[in-house]
Amino acid sequence: MNRAAVKQLDLLRSTIGIASRRVAGRWSANAIRTRHYQWRRAVEPSISLPQVRHLSVTTTTSSSDDSEETQSGTYSEADHEHAVISTFDLFSIGIGPSSSHTVGPMRAGGIFVADLAEAGLLDKVHMIRISIYGSLALTGEGHMTPSALLLGLESANVETVDTSYVPSRFAQIKKDKKLYLGHGLPEGKGREIDFDYEKDFKWEWSKKLPLHSNGMRFMVFDHEGMMLATNDFFSVGGGFVVNGALSTAATAAAAAARQAAESASADTKELQTEGSSGHPADLAENLFYKEIRRADAAGDRRTGPEVKSQDGQPAEESMVLSETSLHGTDSASSVTSAAPDTEAASQQPRYLFRDAHSLLALCHKHNLTIAQLVYENEKSHGYTDDEIFKKLMSIWEVMDNSILEGVQAPLDTTLPGSLKLNRRAPALYKRLTRGLYPSHTQNPGATNLQDLLSSPKSDAGRPLREEPSAPEPPKSTTTALSQKGTFRKRGPPRIHGSVYHPIMPSPSRRTTFPTMDYLAVYAIAVNETNAAGGRIVTAPTNGAAGIIPAVLKYTVEFVSDDPERDILTFLLTAAAIGMLYKRGATISAAEGGCMAEVGVACSMAAGAFAACMGASPETIEQAAEIGIEHNLGLTCDPIGGLVQAPCIERNALGAIKAISSANLALSSEAGTQKVRLDDAIRAMRVTAQGMRNEFKETSLSGLATSVPLNIPVSVPDC
Ligand code: SF4
Repeated sequence: MNRAAVKQLDLLRSTIGIASRRVAGRWSANAIRTRHYQWRRAVEPSISLPQVRHLSVTTTTSSSDDSEETQSGTYSEADHEHAVISTFDLFSIGIGPSSSHTVGPMRAGGIFVADLAEAGLLDKVHMIRISIYGSLALTGEGHMTPSALLLGLESANVETVDTSYVPSRFAQIKKDKKLYLGHGLPEGKGREIDFDYEKDFKWEWSKKLPLHSNGMRFMVFDHEGMMLATNDFFSVGGGFVVNGALSTAATAAAAAARQAAESASADTKELQTEGSSGHPADLAENLFYKEIRRADAAGDRRTGPEVKSQDGQPAEESMVLSETSLHGTDSASSVTSAAPDTEAASQQPRYLFRDAHSLLALCHKHNLTIAQLVYENEKSHGYTDDEIFKKLMSIWEVMDNSILEGVQAPLDTTLPGSLKLNRRAPALYKRLTRGLYPSHTQNPGATNLQDLLSSPKSDAGRPLREEPSAPEPPKSTTTALSQKGTFRKRGPPRIHGSVYHPIMPSPSRRTTFPTMDYLAVYAIAVNETNAAGGRIVTAPTNGAAGIIPAVLKYTVEFVSDDPERDILTFLLTAAAIGMLYKRGATISAAEGGCMAEVGVACSMAAGAFAACMGASPETIEQAAEIGIEHNLGLTCDPIGGLVQAPCIERNALGAIKAISSANLALSSEAGTQKVRLDDAIRAMRVTAQGMRNEFKETSLSGLATSVPLNIPVSVPDC
């Protein structure tokens, strides 16, 4: 059996499981039509019963009815799937403040509109209804989900959209009550419709869709009020989206499972209903990874059937066709899926691994470092050497610029949102660089892409640096002060406590711990840029976006003798570790709390730093393990639903912890550790399963409720 067939079978197996578990709770198609109709009827009583043409159908579950398993996350033991994805899916360029609540929803909106256009429905759309569920709704506008989602429906590209355009366009949509669906699509395919944000955007705070806590539902109607299409999307962390519409294999399997379940015993139905969730990777997650249009995806990613043109062919027929094509018995219908699968088979990553154990075994077998192995996999994803180099360097450039933007923000300003949190990076950076001559601190981004590419020591073929114009002669701070010619009045030193006590109070003083201070300020800078909705790299998520840039920046500026080599090594090694978590546990805070974000980023940075220090694969593994081990159980409880507190400081601590973890591993004897990375990842998965929903990016407990700030979550505040 070839690999494509195995993959199809695996997909079928997992989707049948999922579908069958849904069966007992599934509403009939008519019930769903009626429900949609009732909801709409409540809004516009004159609407007649719609004839629905579904792209897909999913039931909703009230949180009060959730079983313990549903509450505890979405996992499975289906570790027969490999962990390999592209580095450029794991590290993608996006906007703040949240990968799952901002980047993912923007992608979901874009995918939905692209699907409508592809199905020939977009020009018939007269009205849209949007619902967001569970964690997406509970963190409210603090995570800027609505603005990202609406901009996605206007086909804004999350990697390139002007970050200042997002809030201004959002305000305009609300004011004008108009939404331009597919505005960014080529050939003017877009369509402007009426859109009342207050009425057409629903916050389902108390409900969640079965597959994942971060659910979205889109429904579009024609001018007669007939529903044209509906689809559910799930933002599963790191900007990855599960697309219900194109998971036709799943819906086909659901149809098969529904038939099977109808003839099954009541006991069986009961069992099937209990486990309503699966790990996103089992659900044809990232059907085309970070692409918006399936046709843009290459090779291995282009799984699942195409969206069918809706020229009279009902969805049920499409599902049957898809089902038969899965069994390989319908030659006509399998034509469209067979070609990409053949292509996919030829473009499988070269070195497949599913856990740390198999990753290390491959490294030894082929005498490759972890970074080299991931690099070779990128080549089998279809990237050339040049493309890999440029893409990695542009990731670093965005990371570096996000630090620069953070430290160069005006002093004494606050971040957006009702928390009114002070930006600290500018003052911290200023203090840290005091004593340095200004010319040494004017351009902290000196190792950005342009500089590296134009460096005189770069390889042949790359342009040499142009001679810079003569710099201003530097002035020292003390010289500048002495030129003022006056003494500043000083008060007595501040002392807390009684000076007449046998234990004298310590005088107030500050000291510098250069490594820790630099790591902290770099991480805080990125996270403040993120909190302000700026451009950052999801690494592997936005909330934890400061850790990897901070450790890499520190490596480049203070450790490296070859920044170019170390940037590549760092990012590729970190990506490999991130893939292990994505496959073995989760990188979504809605599934695993903050250990899935800050914990994973810390582990990735620890391993990557060790790699830059020339560590063996075993030592890198150990560094990564230490990095996650001491983040297990870390909850997600952002105050006011804003990705600010505790998130920003948590990144600073995460960066410091990463370097400490790597140092511990580097000073240990390789192979003597008792806890392996795979053990820790398993522990993380179990911990996530046992964690209550309140601690998973819902702002329903922890700091979010114990800090008496009285900020109502889920209320627009940005
Ligand atoms: S607490 Fe952690 S997981 Fe939650 S939003 Fe903040 S950084 Fe992300």
